Amino acid sequence: MDIYSEIKKLKGVGPKLEEKLNRCGIFTMLDLLLYFPRDYEFVDGNPNIDDISEELKQIINCKVVSFERDIRTKNGKRLTSIALRYENTKVIAKWFNQPYIKNNFKIGESYNLMGKYKKVGNYLEIVNPTIVFRDASDNEILPVYPLKGDITGGVISKLVNSILCNIVIGENLPEYLLLKYNLVSLDEAIRNIHFPSTKEKLNGAITRLKFQELFTYSVKLLMLKNHLKQGSNGIKFSMCPELTDLKKSLPYELTNAQAKVVREILLDQKSSSPMNRLVQGDVGSGKTVVAFISMFNVYKNGYQVAMMAPTEILASQHFYEAKKLLGKFDIDIELLTGSTTNKEKIRIKEKISSGIPIVVIGTHAIIQEDVNFTNLGLVVTDEQHRFGVEQRSKLINKGKEPDVLVMTATPIPRTLALYLYSDLDVSIIDELPPGRKKIETLFFQSESKYQAYNLALDEISKGRQVYVVCPLIEEDEDGKLNSVDEVYNDLSDGVLKEHKIEKLHGKMAPKDKEDIVNRFKEGHIKALISTTVIEVGVNVPNASVMIIENCERFGLSQLHQLRGRVGRGQYQSYCILVGNAKNNITKKRMMIMTESNDGFYIAEQDLKLRGSGEMFGLRQSGDSGLILADIIEDMKILRCASEEAKIILQSSDVNNVKLITEISKNLSRSSKYICFN
Ligand code: ADP
Ligand code: MG
Repeated sequence: MDIYSEIKKLKGVGPKLEEKLNRCGIFTMLDLLLYFPRDYEFVDGNPNIDDISEELKQIINCKVVSFERDIRTKNGKRLTSIALRYENTKVIAKWFNQPYIKNNFKIGESYNLMGKYKKVGNYLEIVNPTIVFRDASDNEILPVYPLKGDITGGVISKLVNSILCNIVIGENLPEYLLLKYNLVSLDEAIRNIHFPSTKEKLNGAITRLKFQELFTYSVKLLMLKNHLKQGSNGIKFSMCPELTDLKKSLPYELTNAQAKVVREILLDQKSSSPMNRLVQGDVGSGKTVVAFISMFNVYKNGYQVAMMAPTEILASQHFYEAKKLLGKFDIDIELLTGSTTNKEKIRIKEKISSGIPIVVIGTHAIIQEDVNFTNLGLVVTDEQHRFGVEQRSKLINKGKEPDVLVMTATPIPRTLALYLYSDLDVSIIDELPPGRKKIETLFFQSESKYQAYNLALDEISKGRQVYVVCPLIEEDEDGKLNSVDEVYNDLSDGVLKEHKIEKLHGKMAPKDKEDIVNRFKEGHIKALISTTVIEVGVNVPNASVMIIENCERFGLSQLHQLRGRVGRGQYQSYCILVGNAKNNITKKRMMIMTESNDGFYIAEQDLKLRGSGEMFGLRQSGDSGLILADIIEDMKILRCASEEAKIILQSSDVNNVKLITEISKNLSRSSKYICFN
């Protein structure tokens, strides 16, 4: 069996199932093996009666005593009950609308029933238990897979199992590392990550795989760093004379911090090794204009520039801003995103491949395979902690050595930066443009959210504009969270009925989104009811109120980003967090938000509370390739892995060289950090 082959080659995978698996990102058998559980359920087998808990799933071996007669419940469901016995205790198992379930049982026989048991008087009750065909005397550890669409964990388990039954996975770490760090073999690790028989085995598997991810990550990072270090093959740009005119023409003077960072960038541009610079600056510190100035210089040197933003909204905002600020200097600027028409795309791509100087602003689409920059001088990624090793390698593998500028509002603690961005130089914009008023942050329990709406109404009456952010687009089943739809309906019939308000969310067509953002910018729309699509970068200085519904659902850094959408002009602005702060952690988090406006402090707190994977979007984006490892939590493993990576990169042992070649082949592939022999 070849694990690189397509998933449809696996027995039992027809076109329908294939599609479902594809939706989970599973295309090959290897993808499936690397589709790790996101969690595990620890199921106790045959517990003592005293240890029965409603909170936990448990498996109990029960003997059937009698079948009860089916009855109809008040709401019309058909209830089937079976009476059983566990030791000396009576157990009643109940199923709804599954009358055929009785066929699976025989009086006098014993079955392992899994589910949550409840003590009712002197007997146990269980609703909708499943029968498991394993020994209930052991404790079970069941994988919980991250699922998308209507595939079940059971199906995944079965398929994984069918692969594992047919292969032995070759080892790919040198034996001395396994011995030194007491790591289990890759084969054992993969088996136990899916089907751990004990907690110890599970931990062994996790440690081994984390080591592997972090080791591969370190090797890649070091290779990239070495590559960049030796390079004097960067482009030497000169300072173009128009720079002074550009600075003069800006509607404001640069802050000292901005000016300092611009100088640092221009120095990099003059040098013959490629620039790799990270610009950190809190939301609203004015990173965009810094990027524009450096782009301007590269363009005027006769090169091409690509600027990437994480969303289309942000890309088009940068596009218009760039036109406004740079347009008068005769610069060719194009916008290239997913929603650019095909005809336009062809026109722009032709221009790009012709090699003429051009500034292309867009989403990640612009470094895709079929966009052929022939004269690329600078790549800028905005609000982008996700432009990691992988993407940079991709460019280098294309044989390009452009300057790279990464802009981020997420302050990265030093320890972390060392590993995430060890190949980058860092500039910090540690000053906000003058005249900004401190954003006032308030917290309201949901019951009193109309106070927040009234404040919004007041501000609109003064001519300002408002954002309301909700965690969901549509109402969900259990109704616990507020959705854009609900809040929109509520406000447009209620507090804000005299004013033009609109919805904005990711499911809308890009054209509609852009249209709404533009009308909001122009001031025609007074309130935007939105999801977090507006989280990054949207810049409307007239907006003075940010209301965040179900604020307990967001991470602190995300709240800080959202808050950064207001307070961008001369007006006093407000951020109102609405939610349920019933428990202490939530209370503490909200207090951090109401008391601090300092992005660094908040990021640190967030990191403590959530771990780096969540915070930097590493997990979600998959770009880091780290599935199990967390750079903060697993700092210890990372240190070892990083040390070993250094050693192995210098080694001339044949096997080590082979391993490194293997990893480097994958350098440009956004693959997970596990390569198989
Ligand atoms: P961020 O760093 O969050 O990306 P932006 O670049 O979007 O911030 O800038 C925020 C706002 O500040 C914009 O409206 C921009 O025009 C304005 N701005 C930037 N630099 C200055 C400055 N030196 N003086 C006054 N306003 C500025
Ligand atoms: Mg920005």
